[in-house]
Amino acid sequence: MPHQDPRPALLCAIQRLVGMRLTPGTSGNLSVRGTWRDDLGSAPRPGFYITPTGMAYEGLTVDDLPFVGLDGTVRGRRKPSSEWRLHRDLYAARPEAHAVLHAHSTAAVALACLRREIPPFHYMIARFGGDTVRCAPYATFGTQALSDGVVAAMAGRRGCLMANHGMAVIGESLDQALDLGLELEVLCEQYARACQLAAALGAAGPVLLGAEAMAEALAAFGDYGKQA
Ligand code: 13P
Ligand code: ZN
Repeated sequence: MPHQDPRPALLCAIQRLVGMRLTPGTSGNLSVRGTWRDDLGSAPRPGFYITPTGMAYEGLTVDDLPFVGLDGTVRGRRKPSSEWRLHRDLYAARPEAHAVLHAHSTAAVALACLRREIPPFHYMIARFGGDTVRCAPYATFGTQALSDGVVAAMAGRRGCLMANHGMAVIGESLDQALDLGLELEVLCEQYARACQLAAALGAAGPVLLGAEAMAEALAAFGDYGKQA
């Protein structure tokens, strides 16, 4: 049985995600940390609740959201997302992560097909924890190799591109994971637009921010959004 059931909040976030149009069809997946108890006498097992594999987001109910333990045990009536390893490994590697989003949003996919990191063309790159957003190497979806590449690309960061595939972000909450997913998609659109304009004007590319400017932006993001 779910312990301190986070599935209603996950379901709300899934509905918000559908409206954001970051996950066409059944692509992408979303999860939130949680625990499971096999019975009232047993200790809560740490893990996460995640979207089911290959099912339309619309019409899901809480019973369609399986639990996956950090030890790989699965509970629930649906099979978890094929990317459960990626989610499990991010939760294991990043104690601050409370939610994980993987998406096939259009601009992120387009840039990920170039297999290059996004340089510091805008200060918002610092929102993801560094002066670039890295791109994880290509590996078949759902594999341990893909998960290993994403965890490495996300070291010290909150988001990355995934070569010829999409993007992944971690958040301290479901809302933050969705916000970061949208912000990364918009940054990808803006970077692509800036590169197109530069090409049209015969410029080498957008003017990039230097290390000092990015360090200042990173520091300024330290308490950004904290109202109290
Ligand atoms: P799932 O439907 O298994 O979550 O897969 C979608 C996806 O994006 C695989 O990378
Ligand atoms: Zn995918």
